[in-house]
Amino acid sequence: MAERSPIPEGTKRVVRRRCGFGCVLCGAPIYQYDHMHDWALGGADDAENLTLLCASHHEEKTKKLIPLEKVRRANKDPFNRSRESSPAHILHYFGDSFEVILGSLRFTQKLDAEGACKLVSINSETLLKLRLEEGNLLITLKLYDVRGEPLVTIIDNELTYKMASWDVEFIGRALTIREGKKKIQARLAFGPPRLLNLQRGLFVHRGLRVEVTPDGVRVPNHGISLQGGAWTGVYGRGIVAYDKHHSGENFDDAFLIIPVDE
Ligand SMILES: [Zn+2]
Repeated sequence: MAERSPIPEGTKRVVRRRCGFGCVLCGAPIYQYDHMHDWALGGADDAENLTLLCASHHEEKTKKLIPLEKVRRANKDPFNRSRESSPAHILHYFGDSFEVILGSLRFTQKLDAEGACKLVSINSETLLKLRLEEGNLLITLKLYDVRGEPLVTIIDNELTYKMASWDVEFIGRALTIREGKKKIQARLAFGPPRLLNLQRGLFVHRGLRVEVTPDGVRVPNHGISLQGGAWTGVYGRGIVAYDKHHSGENFDDAFLIIPVDE
């Protein structure tokens, strides 16, 4: 049998976008590219013949427990296409310690029973939080696009992302959301049970921004930029950016406090 050449990246992107970045039958973000008309039987390697199926639905199709006709119908009307955000995907975090990388800054901490660490806050709004509940490490993360609309949301380990994105790719353990061919809006690498690596992303609350890039953390309104460093300790909060309306609040338990002029 002839060696199969890899599907070109451009073709994959066309398929991902058409299928709503998930299995056409259930919307799951961890999927495989499936040749609807089997490649070994002469099916073409083009976008028309390709669709997205999660491992479980792929297996069912291979075993002919799902008729091809049903896959073709779902391919024309993918599960995710009529939705605003993806169905929730569960992340498997547990244990009483975490390691979070924000660009080039590394935070490690052990949590007390029922303890929590608000790692990124803007004013009173917490945008990245880790907490412990019955041995489960629960992550809450809210990333936004440049217009301030929710882009990636994790609430207590349930991950969803915006469907109207230009491209969403979940390869290995990394989720990448692009707004154009070489424009990455958000990139997250998951290392369960305790590591979360945010390489790029934007936190926004009422006009105030905290931006994470591979270099570090930037607060554009303030001009402050943090690069490198490893922080271990017992902080109730990590980075807090606040404006004059919140200047009276007590942020004493924060690792870094950034007053932002408006
Ligand atoms: Zn599926």
